[in-house]
Amino acid sequence: MTDLRAALLRQIRAQGPISVAEYMTQCLLHPRHGYYATRDPLGQAGDFTTAPEISQVFGELLGLQIAQVWMDQGAPSHFALAELGPGRGTLMADILRATARVPGFHDALSLHLVEASAPLRAAQASRLAQFQPVWHDSADTLPDQPLYLIANEFFDALPIRQFLRQGNGWAERMVGAEGDTLCFGLSPAVPLDALTHRLDDTSDGQIVETRAPAEPVMEAISTRIMAHGGYALIVDYGDWRSRGDTLQALRAHRFDDPLAHPGAADLTAHVDFEALAQAARPLRAMALTVQGALLERLGITARTHALAQGLSGQPLADHLAAHRRLTHPDEMGHLFKALGLTHPHAPAPPGFDA
Ligand code: SAH
Repeated sequence: MTDLRAALLRQIRAQGPISVAEYMTQCLLHPRHGYYATRDPLGQAGDFTTAPEISQVFGELLGLQIAQVWMDQGAPSHFALAELGPGRGTLMADILRATARVPGFHDALSLHLVEASAPLRAAQASRLAQFQPVWHDSADTLPDQPLYLIANEFFDALPIRQFLRQGNGWAERMVGAEGDTLCFGLSPAVPLDALTHRLDDTSDGQIVETRAPAEPVMEAISTRIMAHGGYALIVDYGDWRSRGDTLQALRAHRFDDPLAHPGAADLTAHVDFEALAQAARPLRAMALTVQGALLERLGITARTHALAQGLSGQPLADHLAAHRRLTHPDEMGHLFKALGLTHPHAPAPPGFDA
């Protein structure tokens, strides 16, 4: 039995079942046994792969979009370029390379990374050393400046709670124990003010997910962009509203039972973009856009062709496969969505419908 499973069983036996959010928090962030505390989970040897690890084109196009927004907002001479959950630093390295020739952009920026994982902070440090990044434990300490922020596959890793509708009340899905096995159960149903609006679009037996830790992050972003201008670009899998049970575990690139390997599998849940946009009010949210459409509008096909000129054989095949993976509706193109947020009076960022 893993140490974390033993610790969770002890806790549950002593104090009763825990929420899915508490379970996710322990599995992902436990200081000694947590998934992110103990490893670099990305890439072939890890458990999952993300868009920037698939192709440099992803970060290049989004970087140029961010720089365009910065210019459209008058090119503020001091701003924070920030990333939430920068992984190996690949996305930010691609953004910085692509924007190196945008006049004034690099001189004006200071780099800020919000990261919980020590192994990943080390990877970011070696990748981004020349830009002297400042690390943060939370978005609350980002500087009081114009803020240009990106987050790819960050919010899906924040803990969710799950509520099953029963009549006009909600029973919370809990993690309990049967012998030495972790198992799901339900708390008694109670009415919940926070879910009153979901009584209109759900029926008995359906599950709704909430993600409280995302709210202060969106508020911190909103405060800075309202005061000083800027832009937030959030890319993740999910939809405008949470629907059903989306808790999932990935281990060695395969789906796993979320309770089977606590601390040794990646745990995520789909992102409810409506909840993020609401927590960021009064920022203006662009229409939620599928990743494939956003990348097409930002020129992924032309950029892919340009890079293909220098390639042949397997590297060319891999390069074209990466383009397909990022954009095709059957791959990441439709499941992943992008939410753009600006000050209500700022021009719409390229690639989005206002
Ligand atoms: N954006 C990267 C990595 C995505 S994996 C990419 O696209 O490749 C999720 C990232 O969020 C990791 O860097 C992880 O360590 C970080 N993370 C997860 N939960 C976090 C939390 N609560 N606070 C800060 N960072 C967190």
